[in-house]
Amino acid sequence: MPHRREIFKHAEKLGFGELHFKIDHDTQLFAIIAIHNLKRGPALGGCRWRDYDNTGDAIYDALRLARGMTFKSAISHLPHGGGKAVILRPKKPIEDKEKYFQSFAEFINELNGTYITAADSGTTVEEMDIISKYTKYVTSTSKIGNPAIYTAHGVLRGIQAAVKFKLKKDSLKGLHITIQGVGQVGYLLAKSCHELGATLTVSDITPELTERCKKEFNATVVPANKIHAIKSDVYAPCALGAILNHNTISDLQSPIIVGSANNQLAEMSDGHLLHRLGILYAPDFVANAGGVIQASAKYYQDSEGQIIHKIDGIYDTLMTIFERSEKTHKSTSDIADELALEILEHE
Ligand code: NAD
Repeated sequence: MPHRREIFKHAEKLGFGELHFKIDHDTQLFAIIAIHNLKRGPALGGCRWRDYDNTGDAIYDALRLARGMTFKSAISHLPHGGGKAVILRPKKPIEDKEKYFQSFAEFINELNGTYITAADSGTTVEEMDIISKYTKYVTSTSKIGNPAIYTAHGVLRGIQAAVKFKLKKDSLKGLHITIQGVGQVGYLLAKSCHELGATLTVSDITPELTERCKKEFNATVVPANKIHAIKSDVYAPCALGAILNHNTISDLQSPIIVGSANNQLAEMSDGHLLHRLGILYAPDFVANAGGVIQASAKYYQDSEGQIIHKIDGIYDTLMTIFERSEKTHKSTSDIADELALEILEHE
């Protein structure tokens, strides 16, 4: 975390933008909305609601995530900029949840449509439904449906692109796929891969979830801390961030990594290391964009067919990244950033 006095410097370095704060003593709402970039349209990004050790950590999280959303929206050709909301969960239970999120919705309204909120870690459709009573600048409500279905579809398309590029195969039949985390996205991904003829090995810290995969897809179950080191054709991290780091990368035995987890690389240099090792890494913000593509499309009332068509575009975007990486000898993570910046600049 940067020193509190450095927040402005840090924000400037990341290319911000705006930082908005709301303190509502009546409801105990302490919220931050970070808007990184509005060039492509209103900033779309989820609302985190969680404990933070201090305000500096919360601001830093909002800045980091909002910037990530600018890149994710640009590379997915969405008409959105990048933003994120962070609400610091109060130590004591809140007395009136409706009023608390009403206050947050009013905060969003004060920004005149420059920020559109959505569910994220700690918030669900339940909170989005409350917010939607007080502002129109919200998506991922219960009417809109579960984004995990669309995220999982995008990751599947990412796996298909990587398999085509690296293994020269058009099908997942007979391939071995390892999935870390079989929660919402991981489970749906496992289901699709199984239906397409892949063999699965899975891990999760919740035994019921791995048991479900064993029963339904004949998956092999391994301990949570072992999955990354299992030999497979594709490793799909669908649980935690920073899973690709200097400790884990040396254990990897998969030529391809495509998963839904956000911020999989602990450091940018880990992307370079994967490249040097000849491991094809699908940059997370490209592969896991299915959910935000759906949220944006629903906001603008696209049809289901249009949504799937847009998510299928993840295949082509990744192919472009893989080809450019091969041609320029740069890591796929660097190429994805470059491409997002080019789209931001010129499109
Ligand atoms: P989830 O909470 O439903 O699933 C995550 C799973 O990972 C849980 O089952 C959890 O028990 C498991 N897990 C936690 N620590 C683990 C460990 N050390 N080893 C193995 N498993 C572990 O979340 P989700 O919605 O499926 O999202 C998965 C990941 O994808 C998250 O990182 C999320 O931020 C990211 N993501 C999700 C979406 C979406 O639409 N849900 C969109 C973009 C990115």
